[in-house]
Amino acid sequence: VFITIEGVEGSGKSTQLLRLSERLRHLGLPLVVSKEPGGTALGRELRRLLLERHASGETWCADAELLLFYADRAQHLETVIRPALAEGKVVLVDRFEDSTRAYQGASGVPEAALDRLSELVLRGLRPSLTVVLDMDPELSLQRVEVRNLSLGAEFAETRFDNAALEFHRKVRNRFLAIAQSHPGRVALVPARDPVDQVEAAIWARVAPLLRS
Ligand code: C5P
Repeated sequence: VFITIEGVEGSGKSTQLLRLSERLRHLGLPLVVSKEPGGTALGRELRRLLLERHASGETWCADAELLLFYADRAQHLETVIRPALAEGKVVLVDRFEDSTRAYQGASGVPEAALDRLSELVLRGLRPSLTVVLDMDPELSLQRVEVRNLSLGAEFAETRFDNAALEFHRKVRNRFLAIAQSHPGRVALVPARDPVDQVEAAIWARVAPLLRS
């Protein structure tokens, strides 16, 4: 069983991923929890570069950024995801293909390029279930701002200007479009609801997968 969790920043992804992984562990299921970028040494290096880029204000051309995300995905699939699935484990991943489609798509990467790279790297592998936590970026980015201020986060963006809000609105709309075009695979979960309610909505979609 291969489950991915997606959503705009501040939508509560980390909290829900933790709760879902605790439920799965509690059932005694063999579980691998991972994330993109960051599930491999290569992914952690990419995350560091992304943070540094935020701090330095350097821009990357869209194709370079896209290829880095797919390089990370190729490595992650090869060394973590495919081996775990082959051993019959439940694999739970924080961000995957749909984040690339949402974020890099919103940056202007054409759909055809995403399709080609996806075919090359995923070779037909699709998550059994993708949870998309949906929230208006106006609210989710406020949450991120508060979190960053309270953590004194060194690299994080602590100010989201109008351009950033506009970008994250595009990202959200892309997640919504993905959910609409893949109703069987994607569970769209309203993320503004209380945390317990969001957790229950996710569990309602995950539990049937474990019985099959
Ligand atoms: O939420 P998370 O910590 O996984 O996000 C890491 C950062 O990478 C976020 O700032 C997100 O906007 C960015 N990202 C991206 N393109 C992706 C995946 C993540 O720009 N495909």
